[in-house]
Amino acid sequence: MISNKYKILVIEDESNIKNLLKALLETSGYQVITAKSCQSGQTQFISHRPDLVILDLGLPDFDGMTFLKEIRKESLTPVIIVSARSEDKDKVDALDFGANDYITKPFSSAELVARVRSALRNSRHSADEGRLPGGKFESDGLVIDYDARRVFIDKKEINLTQTEYNIIALLSEYSGRVMTYAAIIKAIWGYVDINSTKKLQVNMANIRKKFGAKPGEKNYIVNELGVGYRMCERNE
Ligand code: CA
Repeated sequence: MISNKYKILVIEDESNIKNLLKALLETSGYQVITAKSCQSGQTQFISHRPDLVILDLGLPDFDGMTFLKEIRKESLTPVIIVSARSEDKDKVDALDFGANDYITKPFSSAELVARVRSALRNSRHSADEGRLPGGKFESDGLVIDYDARRVFIDKKEINLTQTEYNIIALLSEYSGRVMTYAAIIKAIWGYVDINSTKKLQVNMANIRKKFGAKPGEKNYIVNELGVGYRMCERNE
């Protein structure tokens, strides 16, 4: 049968979770292939060339990170980590090794499907070069004009420093996905030192203030504690 559905490879050894993911994704209109180990995941990846991979980190043969490192040598296929491990270190490592997003078990169906959509959309965007400078970013009341390097909220201009603007522009290019502190710092300052995280936090606090954020409110940017920052997708 010929199908033009997006193909998703689910690598997960726990049968109940694997079946749940498969049913959920198929209901949402995706074609699903599954694997129970790192090695069979690699075989499936090569033969099916999926559009996206959902990857468990705790697998019976090798760590899921092994799979990630292996496919990142030759492929930019989006990978979403689904892991029971709640330690921040694993998430940060996975993101720094090229995972696009992570979701911690137990997760809600709606959340998982939203993350899958967002990862597929982002990979399409980069393939279309749709987010290169020249365009505009819009999310609810927030508008970023990349050419003019200006930012507006509800049509009112927000005065940002160069660094603040660079951070916002960077996060917007990857909107919907988490960028780790280290990845942001490297992109903005080019190097990491002991003061980097503090420097980033101070800038983020200033941006939030200028955006008129109230404590506890999302206001376009979410701080994923211990991991990094994420700019919200439109209407999220
Ligand atoms: Ca597992």
